[in-house]
Amino acid sequence: MKHAAALLLWCMLTASMAGLYELEQAPPPSADSLTPLVLLTPDGPQTMTMAEYLPFALAAEMPASFGAEALKAQAVALRTLALGGHKHADADVCTDSGCCAAWLDEPALRERWGGSYDAYMAALTGAVGATDGQYLIYGGEPIQAAFHASSYRYTEDSGALWSPLPYLISVSSPETEQDAPGLISTVSVTAEAFSRALDLAPDGPPETWVQALEPDGAGRVAQAVIAGRTFSGATLRSLFGLRSTAFTLAWDGAAFTFTVSGYGHGVGMSQYGARALAAQGMDYRQILAHYYPGTDLAAWTGQTFSSPSRNTIS
Ligand SMILES: [Zn+2]
Repeated sequence: MKHAAALLLWCMLTASMAGLYELEQAPPPSADSLTPLVLLTPDGPQTMTMAEYLPFALAAEMPASFGAEALKAQAVALRTLALGGHKHADADVCTDSGCCAAWLDEPALRERWGGSYDAYMAALTGAVGATDGQYLIYGGEPIQAAFHASSYRYTEDSGALWSPLPYLISVSSPETEQDAPGLISTVSVTAEAFSRALDLAPDGPPETWVQALEPDGAGRVAQAVIAGRTFSGATLRSLFGLRSTAFTLAWDGAAFTFTVSGYGHGVGMSQYGARALAAQGMDYRQILAHYYPGTDLAAWTGQTFSSPSRNTIS
């Protein structure tokens, strides 16, 4: 009996010590898990936490295979957009990539990824966890962390498309055709389709129609003069389904051909560029400092802001 009582006491002691150990070792809750977020979906608003939102936005916006530092940079950009979101009265962000950022739910990702779901989701939650609470500020406020798929040589200046912002300026971007499939693409249209799309009434032969392509400060097409009329680069991009406004336009005797560089509006971080910079050895802080110059990386603890750290390349 003595032995049994001693054994019982020992068991109780070790159990309580184990409990104590677990208590001491339990990690503190992440800042993202303490940050409530309202996501506007096509089915209506959904309430969740930043920790629940971010991996699924990251999944929708960047291939999970892009590597840890590019994924971390993208996670910080998405967190920044969500914390600074002010486009919707009843939500922090929506699921529209053209408005806030894309987002996919678990069933959609399981269908897309199949047997790779667990591995891909682990990479994404790892990138979110490694940057817990971190976001970019300028003048003390979350920045408009715009991003796009790819740029050829240079990103676009925000002032060419929207209101100019000092941290969304044209910077170099290193991706090549080897890094980014479809970095250079072409769109060809017949003279008749070209004329109809632009509602032209040209006098001369097609080789005389395109009179000028005027570049903006980043080398993209600001506007084009065609058969005496002026069209913005953005209008031509939209009308002809071009991947960006970085294009040339030529008549080859049979068709007009747009040769287009990069994919997307070109402002802010290039995703393929982020991957290329990571491959060169940059970490996510350096990647963010490159594409959002002059910004600081701050930490949101879920309740309070910590002092920002200077987000510059050291
Ligand atoms: Zn939105």
